[in-house]
Amino acid sequence: MTTATRWNTPATTPRTLRFGEHTVTWLPDGYVQLDPRRWLPGTTAEDWTGENAELLDSEGFLAASIGALLIQHGDRAMLVDAGFGPHDIPAAHTHPTLGVLVGGQLPAALAAVGVDPAAIELIAFSHLHDDHFGWAFRPGQGLASPFVNASFAASAAEWANWAQPTDGSPRMRTVGDGEEIFPGVTVRAAPGHTAGHTSFVLSSGERRLIAFGDVFHTPAQFARPDWKVAMDSLPEQGVASRRALLAELARPGTAAFANHFSDVVFGRLGDHSGTPCWEPLEEFS
Ligand SMILES: [Zn+2]
Repeated sequence: MTTATRWNTPATTPRTLRFGEHTVTWLPDGYVQLDPRRWLPGTTAEDWTGENAELLDSEGFLAASIGALLIQHGDRAMLVDAGFGPHDIPAAHTHPTLGVLVGGQLPAALAAVGVDPAAIELIAFSHLHDDHFGWAFRPGQGLASPFVNASFAASAAEWANWAQPTDGSPRMRTVGDGEEIFPGVTVRAAPGHTAGHTSFVLSSGERRLIAFGDVFHTPAQFARPDWKVAMDSLPEQGVASRRALLAELARPGTAAFANHFSDVVFGRLGDHSGTPCWEPLEEFS
């Protein structure tokens, strides 16, 4: 029987940390179960024993959280990604690499930290998959997006592959590598999961917090960045981006935000007997 821990259970409550002049808050929306051997098809049953078994929920899936990162600076606020929206998809109706896919908590999470969705000025997307844009574009169930004043930013390659209708308004912004999109927040290209996949780097003095999006989906990949991801549209690029990110995370003063890492979404690169690992953080000290 699997023990429920923060490593194999999705986050259900917001988690706030101070980062210099910024406040960052993880806002959970829901979760998706990832079938470990279908998501990472190069892995064997053996790879999911031992410590990696602790990442699996009681049904043998990786419990990937879904949500948004709220970044506040003074009276300004932005989000990285926007959850999945109020949908509950049973395992039989999701992609074969997935189990259940559930969203819907994001507005309550935002309310719990006292932020009006109308005050969000920008939503920056790591990529345009539905578990990252849900509350921005298609809440569904007759609901309009609560983010009535936000502009929506993604890389040119993401918008180029965007199949959904848009309102054609200047709310849709294209952002490029190195661009500062909010005080202290810059764009960092990280292709692989999608061609236009983007990480966002929050800087404060000498310290950095890298919101790396879907470069990694589970802490198990820290030891094995070479594992190909079935849902990476450019698998070789995905490997290269994971290796590049591990090198970035090794720099002093660098922490990370991992939107799909169960309830251990904030952390940094650790060392486990010479092997890279994910070390959760409760504060940035
Ligand atoms: Zn994702």
